[in-house]
Amino acid sequence: MAARLEQSEHLHRFLVESSPDLIYTIDHSGRFTFVNGRIESLLGYTREELIGSKYNVIVHEDDLEKAQYAFAERRRDIRAVSNLEVRLKTKNDSFRYFEDNLIVSMMSATGIYVDKCGEDSLVQNCYLGTYGVARDITERKIADETIAFQAFHDQLTHLPNQRLFKDRLEMAIIHVKRHGGVVGVMFIDLDRFKLVNDTYGHAAGDELLKNVALRLRNCMRAGDTLARKGGDEFTVLLPDMVKAEDATITAEKIKQELQAPFNIAGQDVHISASIGIAVLPRDGESVDTLLKNADIAMYKVKANGKNGFKYFIPDMNTCSCERISLENDLRQAINNAEFKLYYQPQFSVRKNEIVGMEALIRWDHPVHGLMNPLSFIGMAEETGLIGEITDWVLGEACAQLSSWRAKGFSNLRMSVNVSPQEFERNDIITRIMGHVTNNHLPTNSLEIEITENVLLQDAPGVIKKMRALRDHGVRISIDDFGTCYSSLNYLRLFPVNTIKIDQSFVRDLTFEHGVSPIIQAIIGIARGFGLHLIAEGVESCDQLEALNELGCDEIQGYFFSKPLSGGEMERLLVSACGNTPKCFTGTGPGSEHRKVMRETSAGGRASLPVCCPP
Ligand code: C2E
Ligand code: MG
Ligand code: MG
Repeated sequence: MAARLEQSEHLHRFLVESSPDLIYTIDHSGRFTFVNGRIESLLGYTREELIGSKYNVIVHEDDLEKAQYAFAERRRDIRAVSNLEVRLKTKNDSFRYFEDNLIVSMMSATGIYVDKCGEDSLVQNCYLGTYGVARDITERKIADETIAFQAFHDQLTHLPNQRLFKDRLEMAIIHVKRHGGVVGVMFIDLDRFKLVNDTYGHAAGDELLKNVALRLRNCMRAGDTLARKGGDEFTVLLPDMVKAEDATITAEKIKQELQAPFNIAGQDVHISASIGIAVLPRDGESVDTLLKNADIAMYKVKANGKNGFKYFIPDMNTCSCERISLENDLRQAINNAEFKLYYQPQFSVRKNEIVGMEALIRWDHPVHGLMNPLSFIGMAEETGLIGEITDWVLGEACAQLSSWRAKGFSNLRMSVNVSPQEFERNDIITRIMGHVTNNHLPTNSLEIEITENVLLQDAPGVIKKMRALRDHGVRISIDDFGTCYSSLNYLRLFPVNTIKIDQSFVRDLTFEHGVSPIIQAIIGIARGFGLHLIAEGVESCDQLEALNELGCDEIQGYFFSKPLSGGEMERLLVSACGNTPKCFTGTGPGSEHRKVMRETSAGGRASLPVCCPP
């Protein structure tokens, strides 16, 4: 009998000790009376450390109440507590999740009951202690939490996703409807992100988004929600505003926070954001309306030069519908052959002839008529359609130049405007050179006009491309010179051939006001750096005289000619041949020369001589 008993005990001990679960008993005061060996591998305690200690020692503070309740219940049989989830503390101050599959009271028909004062008495149906089995469910819990997190968060930035954002906005709307108040919704779109992504690759783009998310988060207050909408778009919920204008503070902070450059692949890259703001209840009372209106306001910022913020106003709604329809029309414009190139002659006073022309695009819209580039180039840049447009302009301009050269006008130069964003693309050199070669043009007959802001972005990459163009012999001019952040340093660094004095400075040149110091400075800079100079927007004889006197030889502007269609330009080239206006018969600038010139051009435009075909 003794041997069988011993064998049975061995078996039971073996079963208890080799169980994957934690098996324990506690007495009436909640102290451990037994714990199996699993405690060591699961929580790091030896069983000696725990026997005699209260269960509070290992139950997580936040779950104590739950545990107390379950142990106090003292249920048995099918009424025993099961599936109680608690966190148990490990010895190294961390915790693991457990599910108590069973907490059951151990009773005996009669027994000795020891009360709180240590007095014992013989009682019926005596409580001996509680027996429990707890399973470690930490891995499952982590997996569940990860799945739940992923359902409501963006995987890349770990910010809330749109599902969570919309849910929180819904709550905020309900709150405002019940209790009043003002809630702000922001729509943030990064400027130039696509370019960074295309230039440095998707991995760098992802890294940038993560860093932007971190900086944006710094601009939020507790209670605000910053969410990622997708791509380079973020949304913000500002639930605790006092008045509509409070969102300005957050928007300014974001602008400020993004000012410092981001380091991408070892290079400093500047990123800004366009932010649209809609306010509840003023600008809508539903999630979709608020988001749509914030989006519309954001587009307004994009259209006005990006890097800023705007509050939604109802007027924007009509504009945005027009914009969307115009954007759709723009997509069709190339296929429908709606673009036209106009050419504005550039005249050399010294040579007394047309030396070149600038190609200027027009959109012959089926409903709106002939549209000038300022009304659609920005949109083309934002939508990425600019690539196709640049190719079309380059192709058309080079083909036209080639045709005029074949007719004998062999010294003409063609200037083509290339958007800053285009100039940063890796394939721009190949594309430009492709058009030059296809049309058998000498490379120096093409001049690429870029604006100063190209030079500010990604300087080393741009310098490389400009050098490559120059090495091929293509000329480069800086358009609208003096209107951006003209820096003498970049003129030293960049291989530029020509600077074009912007028309705003030329406009200031009047007979009464005399010569502006800015123009004098620009002409001095061009001379100092040995650069070719063109003045644009020359509308009057006074302006032409003043420029000529200052030593600016090449002139472009309405004084000579407005931009002309290809046919008109050709007629001008042919008719101007041999026709030298009196005002340019003088040998050089001087009082007599100016006098004749003013007399000749009074009340009208100068007629144009041109380099004649042989
Ligand atoms: P821009 O390159 O500075 O071109 C000069 C602009 O000044 C042209 O306007 C021209 O018509 C206008 N202009 C010329 N002479 C005078 C004058 O005497 N007085 C006045 N008030 N204006 C004069 P346009 O054609 O409307 O072009 C505007 C801008 O659009 C251009 O400025 C250029 O930046 C851009 N653009 C034009 N064509 C293209 C193109 O093919 N591609 C790109 N990316 N941009 C283009
Ligand atoms: Mg230009
Ligand atoms: Mg210009």
